[in-house]
Amino acid sequence: MTHASCTLEPTRISGTPTPHEEQPRLFRRVQEQMDRAADAIALAPEVRKILASPACEVGVNFPVRMDDGRIEMFSGYRVQHNNVLGPFKGGIRYHPDVSLDEVRALAAWMTIKCALVDIPFGGGKGGVQVDPSTLSRREIERMTRRFVYALGANIGPGYDVPAPDVNTDARTMAWVVDTYAASLPPQERYRALAVVTGKPVSAGGSVGREKATGQGVVDLIEMWAKDHRCKVSDLSYTVQGFGKVGSWAARILKDKGAKLFAAQDVTGAIRSSSAEGLDADALAEHVKKTGGVAGFPGAQPVSLDEFFGVRADVFIPAALENQVTGRTARLLNVRLVAEGANGPTTPDGDAVLRERGIGVLPDVLCNAGGVIVSYFEWLQNRGGAAWNAAEVDQRLRDILERAYARVKGMVESKALDWRTAAYAVALRRIEEVYAERGIFP
Ligand code: NAD
Repeated sequence: MTHASCTLEPTRISGTPTPHEEQPRLFRRVQEQMDRAADAIALAPEVRKILASPACEVGVNFPVRMDDGRIEMFSGYRVQHNNVLGPFKGGIRYHPDVSLDEVRALAAWMTIKCALVDIPFGGGKGGVQVDPSTLSRREIERMTRRFVYALGANIGPGYDVPAPDVNTDARTMAWVVDTYAASLPPQERYRALAVVTGKPVSAGGSVGREKATGQGVVDLIEMWAKDHRCKVSDLSYTVQGFGKVGSWAARILKDKGAKLFAAQDVTGAIRSSSAEGLDADALAEHVKKTGGVAGFPGAQPVSLDEFFGVRADVFIPAALENQVTGRTARLLNVRLVAEGANGPTTPDGDAVLRERGIGVLPDVLCNAGGVIVSYFEWLQNRGGAAWNAAEVDQRLRDILERAYARVKGMVESKALDWRTAAYAVALRRIEEVYAERGIFP
């Protein structure tokens, strides 16, 4: 059976900011990953065609007043990839490298992730091209509020529900709710809570959301360990990125007895000077105080290449895309790459990991804990309920166990690698819905 290949040429969208347009490299990578899985399961050609282009792309340029009275212009995006399973869902990122191509790719990954873990959300993502470390807290707040205002009705509790991502957090989400609520008539403001997830618990967030992505990474490492007849308490690991995902994964692994041998972030790389490993809790405190892992007392500073070469059982990339390349994958000295970040491994990196027999828990499975607990938060907001921590953790674990089993089943039945199998499971789920619903009109 032959399929039309997914070839989305760069499109010009009315209102899209022009200075940062790029060739669609990252989005093309997602398309190629989807194509590989679609070939393996002979996916219906029309589903492949639909998923080849995002359903909607919003680009906005908006002014923000700086603390010194100047006005600066910012560019932001919201890409809504597919919503056949439910409202668009995905984080908002603040980073200088944010581009339309990157946001498209991240939105498409969300479509795959939600379908894979079988929650009723589609895929979306947003971002503002900015280095937030150059802004004051008040400037970040004004920028956030102006971005939400510019997005207007393109987000909403039953339509498109953002969440935190790189350089955004619970406080950012509280500003989104407050700004969105102000745009509604007073009688409808109660609805505003469910416009984003990842809010502070005191302002409508869910218990367990802050750690959810890291918790999911650890749950999946545990499932992998069980399959490989070892215990998490016997594992050692290294972490790239010590932000929300990386630091929570590291702290939860520490509680389970695993040993952190090295960490790296935007400030540098460190490794443990002893076999006992680094104290993940103390490191998280140090990062909170100083902004990064560099200078952590008692740790040895190392180069990036040395960091990648540290011998451990598991490497957790939890920073940005494109970190495990053909070159760095050759440096790795681990048995498993557990992808906390989105898109950390390039196709070359993947090929080297396969060739070297290093296992991969792919991003769309491994970091899905965040969107799953976001779904719980959204349900609680809409139902006026508050679940407790044990309930959240158990429900998260159940969903991840089912998803892990589905991917494993696909790996075994079709002789696929884990990434392709994860995409195949997700695409089957989406195909099923299109087969039932058909295409309007
Ligand atoms: P964050 O902003 O909290 O942390 C990002 C970390 O990456 C920081 O430690 C930063 O220093 C580090 N970093 C940035 N640039 C780097 C570089 N060039 N080299 C090394 N380290 C670098 O972000 P986060 O929310 O932890 O997100 C991390 C990754 O996880 C992203 O890929 C994100 O899309 C993905 N993710 C996040 C969530 C979530 O719930 N927050 C859910 C799923 C996936």
